[in-house]
Amino acid sequence: MKIYETASPQETWQLGYDMGKCAAAGQVYCLDGDLGTGKTVFAQGFAAGLGVAGPVNSPTFTILQVYEEGRMPLYHFDVYRIGDVEEMDEIGYEDCFYGEGVCLVEWSELVREILPEGAVHVRIEKDVEKGFDYRRITVL
Ligand code: ADP
Ligand code: MG
Repeated sequence: MKIYETASPQETWQLGYDMGKCAAAGQVYCLDGDLGTGKTVFAQGFAAGLGVAGPVNSPTFTILQVYEEGRMPLYHFDVYRIGDVEEMDEIGYEDCFYGEGVCLVEWSELVREILPEGAVHVRIEKDVEKGFDYRRITVL
């Protein structure tokens, strides 16, 4: 387990970037934390680290957004609005989780039962006592 502390969105972006640079095919990164903690900021850095040039936004209304222009495919899930885990089957998540690319899953706890055993968990938390822009990011 590793704990990082960031003091700005740029620092969280940079952590995502560094992890995106190191990401290997077949990995699933689970992003959890309350609304507005920085999951998408992290995802944007991660995508840039993979070599995705274009803008990356939370795919809230589509659940899955695929980016092909990096050094491997990036499957970016945001399951915040999922009604039932069966919707993941309909999307064909298995081809993403067990494919040749790398996955990011925002709100992964909502689909806990289908997460692969070897997934990397990234949890982002605020701590109001440490300031508005402080985030504690636990990776395990
Ligand atoms: P989420 O996807 O978790 O709902 P977002 O990434 O969309 O959250 O938004 C995070 C918000 O918090 C952004 O407005 C960002 O500017 C702000 N923010 C402030 N401090 C930080 C920090 N240290 N790390 C990440 N985001 C931060
Ligand atoms: Mg988000």
